[in-house]
Amino acid sequence: MSDERVLLHHARVIDGHGREPVDDGALLVDGPSLLWVGPLAEAPDEAAGARRVDLGGRVVCPGFIDVHVHFALPGEEGNPIMGAGELPTYRALKVLERLRTTLENGVTTARDLMGLDAGFRQAVAERRIAGPRLLVSIAMLSQHAGHADFTLPGHIDGLAVAVAFPGSPGNLVDSVDGMRLRVRELVAAGADCVKLASSGGVTSPHDRPEWLGLRPEMIRAAVEEAEAYGGLPVAVHAIGRPGIEAAVHGGVSSVEHGYALDDELRAEMVDRGQFLVPTLLETVKDLDPTRTPPAAYAKGVRWHRIAQESVAGSIAAGVRVAMGTDSGLTAGHGNNLKELELLVRLGGMTPLEAITAATRDAAELCGVADVTGTLEAGRYADLVITDADPLTDIGALGDPRRIHAVVKEGRTAIDRAGVLGEALPPLCP
Ligand SMILES: [Zn+2]
Repeated sequence: MSDERVLLHHARVIDGHGREPVDDGALLVDGPSLLWVGPLAEAPDEAAGARRVDLGGRVVCPGFIDVHVHFALPGEEGNPIMGAGELPTYRALKVLERLRTTLENGVTTARDLMGLDAGFRQAVAERRIAGPRLLVSIAMLSQHAGHADFTLPGHIDGLAVAVAFPGSPGNLVDSVDGMRLRVRELVAAGADCVKLASSGGVTSPHDRPEWLGLRPEMIRAAVEEAEAYGGLPVAVHAIGRPGIEAAVHGGVSSVEHGYALDDELRAEMVDRGQFLVPTLLETVKDLDPTRTPPAAYAKGVRWHRIAQESVAGSIAAGVRVAMGTDSGLTAGHGNNLKELELLVRLGGMTPLEAITAATRDAAELCGVADVTGTLEAGRYADLVITDADPLTDIGALGDPRRIHAVVKEGRTAIDRAGVLGEALPPLCP
């Protein structure tokens, strides 16, 4: 009954703004949107004829937002380079499964920072496939010998053959004019944001986090171009200090990882209103010394320790944080909300602050705060319904069994505990 208003009541509502939950709260869903949210006793006249659904005292949060995902990468199922031996159609069909799992585990918006093209976003938006609302960077840009240089022996472009989909713009750039062209190519291909890599990486074999992987003048050019095309957010992979410094000074929107942040750069990020996306899930992955080359193992151990030791200082300094997980790199898809517990345990956030980082603040970083990220009139009805009390047990949100239902744009994506019945239409009939 898609033309019927639905009043979800007997709920504890966490609105995404960081405020204390509203007990005995209710949400009036009207088609894809929320018409009203508040204490049931204050429900407006429009609620009178609505179909009522008793949520049994469960907690309702805004649908969560993961600002750093790679749906084109296999996570713990294997190494990204496996894709070189697979047809692009087969790789695309594997993405469908990852999108569905991620949505069903509580993520209703996800930003893919290298891999997916705009066709995936379109198919999700048209409800041809189930998945979180997508924002895509399509490519990740760096100079040659930077983090986006995945050249394989024999001069084979590893990203093009194993990760990117046919027709996607290239990712290597070595001059200011070249950067302007690359960003324009991405805009023309429908990118929602620009992803740069200004330092080397932890898991990549041929570059190091300490290296500067993109000259400051190219970062500034990318930021200027992104600004000229509607103010697209610029997200920068930066782990070591030189890369972080270049990104921060260059005026980017977010530093992804940011492990080597120090007080000087933290203060500058606060002044500039730049976000940190700590991607802690990646750092708690156990490295297997028997299956990892010794140099890579040492690099991983060292940088994961730095990441875990620095994040609390960055958060305490007042740097704004948005939740991102790097899901697909080594972490499997659908574990996104495990990051919340890490933001609390390692980052020193309160559970409510962690939830805000994964809802309202993530929406602000991505430029979608006018449609999602908070539970209030006019926003999409993107909801996570759980029997957990995230304020006393934030880790429970990382367990899919505790995610009793997920609603996206007023439609049921999954209803594990049968709380919604047939009240809302299915996401993908
Ligand atoms: Zn990443």
